[in-house]
Amino acid sequence: MRAGVDLGGTKIQVVVTAKGARVVGQARRNTPLRGGPEVIVRDVVSTVREAAAAAGVDVGELQSVGVGAPGSIDTTTGTVIQVANVAGLDEPFPLGPAVAAELGVPVALGNDVSVAVEAERRYGAGRGYRSFLGVFWGTGVGGGLVVDGRLLLGRGSAGEIGHVCAKPGGRRCNCGLRGCVEAYAGRGALEARARREARKRKTVLFDLMRKRGRDQLTSGVWLRALDAGDLVARDLLREAVGALGVGIGSAVTLLDVEAVIVGGGLGERLGPTWLSRIEQAAREHTFFRETPVFKLAELGDMGGAIGASMLGSGPRSDHKVQTYADGPSARMR
Ligand SMILES: [Zn+2]
Repeated sequence: MRAGVDLGGTKIQVVVTAKGARVVGQARRNTPLRGGPEVIVRDVVSTVREAAAAAGVDVGELQSVGVGAPGSIDTTTGTVIQVANVAGLDEPFPLGPAVAAELGVPVALGNDVSVAVEAERRYGAGRGYRSFLGVFWGTGVGGGLVVDGRLLLGRGSAGEIGHVCAKPGGRRCNCGLRGCVEAYAGRGALEARARREARKRKTVLFDLMRKRGRDQLTSGVWLRALDAGDLVARDLLREAVGALGVGIGSAVTLLDVEAVIVGGGLGERLGPTWLSRIEQAAREHTFFRETPVFKLAELGDMGGAIGASMLGSGPRSDHKVQTYADGPSARMR
């Protein structure tokens, strides 16, 4: 059995998987908002222990622990270089060795989106395709590519569909560039835009948010607003779909992938209707008459953790990972 950790800005999700990526135990908690990297390590470690207990195993019996984190990762040293949205990980930190030292189990690190794409490739909607583009539509817009049956890494970060330009000179993105897909489609950008719109137009978005006891516009809030016929929600999501269409259509034209797999909080919540809208929007920017198959991701919000549990699992792994049983040593490839 292996453990996988999906370390995100809002939650730490851990699964313990058996053969075939079958989930046999899980645990989750909120990501600590203060306290720095030591507190994150402490909470990751205790969530792994909890998940192991739920699976009925001792942590020491785990073959490995994989951690998927957002942002750029140095997989050779197990260091997170720059992590978006996780408070306390804005500076480089040797997360892999730190977690390994606490648990006494080999730890491998990977990018959260890459591991989720790899999980969809092996066990989810990507099964049977030699090539596909994975798009994770949530707070940001993440992406990953499978080409010729393997995760395409490029120089380490290939597949950043969220930062493909949808509109030259357009809105400023969190990354510093202008006109990125994410600047129109990311849930963070959508919320910022909705707050401005709310001063001018009537919208139920923020009433729904408060009614549900939330402090931000979750994917569920967006869905309910659409169901209530909210025009601000509809207009902003249409614009988001337009931007996604430009990015995805361009990527398809360049790579001629067999499938496009859409996941993430918004992708999942908005479901098949909006998936087909994305497909239509992408069609307008695709060179080929025949567009690829558009599918929803199958592994849901556990996909990241399941993918992380596969880090370094055997010769079929496409991840360049290293484990840290006693500091950076044995390369698992
Ligand atoms: Zn950007």
